[in-house]
Amino acid sequence: MRLGVLGGTFDPVHNGHLAVAQAVRDRLQLDQIIFVPACLPWLKKDRQVTPPEHRIAMLRLALAERAGLTVSPLEIVRGGPSYTADTVEELRRCLGTEAELFFIMGCDSLAGLPRWQDPARIIKMCRLVAVPRPGCPRTDLTALEAAIPGISGRVVLLDAPVIDVSATDIRRRIAAGLPVDHLVPPPVLRYIREHRLYLDEVNPSAG
Ligand code: ATP
Repeated sequence: MRLGVLGGTFDPVHNGHLAVAQAVRDRLQLDQIIFVPACLPWLKKDRQVTPPEHRIAMLRLALAERAGLTVSPLEIVRGGPSYTADTVEELRRCLGTEAELFFIMGCDSLAGLPRWQDPARIIKMCRLVAVPRPGCPRTDLTALEAAIPGISGRVVLLDAPVIDVSATDIRRRIAAGLPVDHLVPPPVLRYIREHRLYLDEVNPSAG
């Protein structure tokens, strides 16, 4: 069993997440990728995150017809701040030592890994897969190695196609009344509209 894990806030899930997952699954021949939405993303304390039930509902809609991509509520069920080390440990316990685990992230997240809770424990339990992201400099593995010894042997840097989209952009566009139909799957867009999400997002460009 080769399993990928894509952790994130998914506020909302967007076409960038889906393209990353699809590319990684194909290139590394993974059996499945599990999207794991954070309950409380402790690195994003600067803004009010949408309640987890909305974020997971949008993920379920986005992944409904995509073979090999699923969603797990494990961080939401666990509650509290969502630490990846705890999540990977829980998955390891459920899957046993035979399964190969790959934690997938954009290179922006990889650069911030030294600030995460217990990165040394994370790289013991799984390998990391980092993909490029617009505006994110090339990963400096030497600097990362100095902060987290052993990491360079545990990271796969994948040259996946780059999609210039972020959830922040999407929230700002919705608040500004701009279209986002090219950035999120149609059922997710319908959900956002039905539930009137992101209409009050602070939009710095609007002054
Ligand atoms: P926000 O703008 O609210 O910070 P986000 O778009 O970065 O959100 P997250 O849910 O925080 O989305 O991201 C989950 C993971 O997916 C992170 O590892 C992030 O680096 C990665 N990711 C998100 N969008 C892209 C993208 N367009 N290309 C590559 N990786 C991405």
